[in-house]
Amino acid sequence: MSLLKLNHVAVGFDSQLIVNDVSFSLEPGDIGCLLGPSGCGKTTLLRAIAGFESLRSGSIEISMRLVSSQAQHVPPEQRGVGMVFQDFALFPHLTVAQNISFGIRTQTQAEQSARVRQLLEHVGLEGYGPRYPHQLSGGQQQRIALARALAPRPRLLLLDEPFSSLDAELRESLATDVRALLKREKITALLVTHDQQEAFAMADKAGVMYHGKMLQWGTPYGLYHEPAHHLVADFIGHGVLLRGAITPEQGVATPLGILRGDEVPANAEGEAVDVLVRPDDILIDDSSERRAKIVGKGFRGAHYLYTVALSDGSQILCMAPSHHQYAMGEEVGLRLNLDHLVLFPAGYCDT
Ligand code: ATP
Repeated sequence: MSLLKLNHVAVGFDSQLIVNDVSFSLEPGDIGCLLGPSGCGKTTLLRAIAGFESLRSGSIEISMRLVSSQAQHVPPEQRGVGMVFQDFALFPHLTVAQNISFGIRTQTQAEQSARVRQLLEHVGLEGYGPRYPHQLSGGQQQRIALARALAPRPRLLLLDEPFSSLDAELRESLATDVRALLKREKITALLVTHDQQEAFAMADKAGVMYHGKMLQWGTPYGLYHEPAHHLVADFIGHGVLLRGAITPEQGVATPLGILRGDEVPANAEGEAVDVLVRPDDILIDDSSERRAKIVGKGFRGAHYLYTVALSDGSQILCMAPSHHQYAMGEEVGLRLNLDHLVLFPAGYCDT
């Protein structure tokens, strides 16, 4: 049974279709994540699930109940959905405890206090109940906003860029903490983010949207290693497409030499393809005869991301530990670490 199910959902404003034929589902307890460039329709889709936008076509079900279609529209407050938004400010005149208990104020005092205490413990802020929001850091405020949304035990939690106002380091640690919290509370959640590291840290399932369409929905691992569309490959992680031609015995002749894999179609000899090459597919190995020249480098902390030029002038990326540095212009050997090939029809990616 899916907790959230979208069937061919379309949402539009005036003559414009903003979300176009989107289908996916989330199992109970799953954390899903919507990724995609700015303006692709992520927030609009989240708002449609929450009940703030009506559908042009398709349907949305929450816990097997039809909540949105052209004929049916269950109001937001009757959907059992909690929300945390980027600018979801806490009530400044209420204490932390009062903020958290806001959505459960019809419960008895004892029930409210127990739930507040439990959630403060879960978000690692025991004892902060009597404080006011202005006495908290940005990260602490976001944890309280999350606790407030979780207090009524929603069936589904929607989070729209909840950490985007925080610095990168805090964002990463919060993403991990929030995942642990959602798992402990057994809450199904859907998160919108620009930040793929955040998506990878949090999501069981993720989707990449582009111009209102869902290009691919699957595990973060699948999006990275088996992108179904060149725009997914482009959006998730670094990578370069190398033009190649199919050779006999499931090979592709590329500027890196002949690459082989089960993914190469049979009986397609001579056909042109583009091969996705990720930085982690390439290792610098000075004993290798496959030579290349360093033409760019970027420090990434534990690693350098190098751009290297191959003998035909094409460029690829590779990552190497930062305790050894290669100089610009230096010649290096490359070893391939590809365990599978990702191929797209040639030229498909130029469109
Ligand atoms: P971002 O990552 O920048 O937040 P997004 O993927 O969440 O972007 P949306 O906020 O869903 O994108 O917006 C998608 C498109 O819909 C944009 O072009 C936006 O201008 C348009 N849009 C959003 N809300 C409305 C509205 N109420 N009326 C008209 N157009 C709208």
